[in-house]
Amino acid sequence: MEGFFVNKLVRESVSKLQPYSSARDEYVSDGSEMVFLDANENPFDNGVNRYPDPYQRSLKSLLAEQKGVSENQILLGNGSDEILDLIYRAFCEPNQDNIITLPPTYGMYKVLAGINAVENKEVLLTAYFEPNVDKILNVVDDNSKLLFICSPNNPTGNSFKKDGIEKLLKSFKGLVVIDEAYIDFSKDESWLSQLDNYPNLIVTQTLSKAYGLAGIRLGICYASEEIIRILNKIKPPYNVNQLTQQRALQRVLNQDLVNQEVQSILNERTELIKALDSLEFVSTLYPTDANFVLAKVDDANKRYQQLLKKQVVVRNRSTQPLCENTLRFTVGTPEENKKLIAILKELN
Ligand SMILES: *Cc1c(COP(=O)(O)O)cnc(C)c1O
Repeated sequence: MEGFFVNKLVRESVSKLQPYSSARDEYVSDGSEMVFLDANENPFDNGVNRYPDPYQRSLKSLLAEQKGVSENQILLGNGSDEILDLIYRAFCEPNQDNIITLPPTYGMYKVLAGINAVENKEVLLTAYFEPNVDKILNVVDDNSKLLFICSPNNPTGNSFKKDGIEKLLKSFKGLVVIDEAYIDFSKDESWLSQLDNYPNLIVTQTLSKAYGLAGIRLGICYASEEIIRILNKIKPPYNVNQLTQQRALQRVLNQDLVNQEVQSILNERTELIKALDSLEFVSTLYPTDANFVLAKVDDANKRYQQLLKKQVVVRNRSTQPLCENTLRFTVGTPEENKKLIAILKELN
């Protein structure tokens, strides 16, 4: 991609910004025994009395090695939600710029556009839940800064076809954010391997889904070193706390257990699809590449309430465009899934 200069996309106030310099920016420990009297911390050791590493070096070094990218191509955040917000604030001028989203999709893109006073141009997915590439390129204007592509997509579950995304990456002059929250369940390859080919590509992932760590809040952003440098300028200095860094490190090191759990979820997903397929009140089961299944039913409100009475909470997605009378089922443990299937078969 020739003639792409990410610095031209940066919000003016961010371009001019002199970032905050923390105590841990100004002196980085080399591991030798030092007396730290520079950050007004309580000196008595309880495990977390010191500020955490603002750049999470141990965790990034492990992720860089596993994913085959450089540490300088990674930014970590308090969940991907923080990362998405940082992307808006770094690149969008309030009341001037716009972003493009592809509903039905993850709701936070729209909420963040509202918070940041950025216009959200919505281009519906096609009937097969694929990006409508021509329409997207038609609504783009000079102020279109970000295009959000969620693949596998939430709530539909499918991964988008490669050629559509490729065309968008090649044609869109702003940044393309591919949200890969569900990539670990997918049979498709991550777009991470394409970072060096597309200077306008940002890939976000999270430890909240396959990695089973929704409670610690750890989101991951992969992009060019230039983009990461810009995001680092505006992130809160200690945005990823010490306990999160420790738990994330342990878990990422225990890849075998993560893979085992993902495999169990995929097996259970097959069982759930079989069961849903046999139900008379289910009219359509959408193809899924994630840890959930979207199903069109006869009457979503009725089925939702029936399940609630049986102490099962699913998500009613009927208010989303193209999703009338749909329920989204997250795949649970084998026991939970067995229980769900038994209850579903009893409904009438
Ligand atoms: C769940 C989800 C996220 C949330 O990520 P956090 O890291 O927990 O903030 C992001 N994107 C999509 C599409 C999701 O479904």
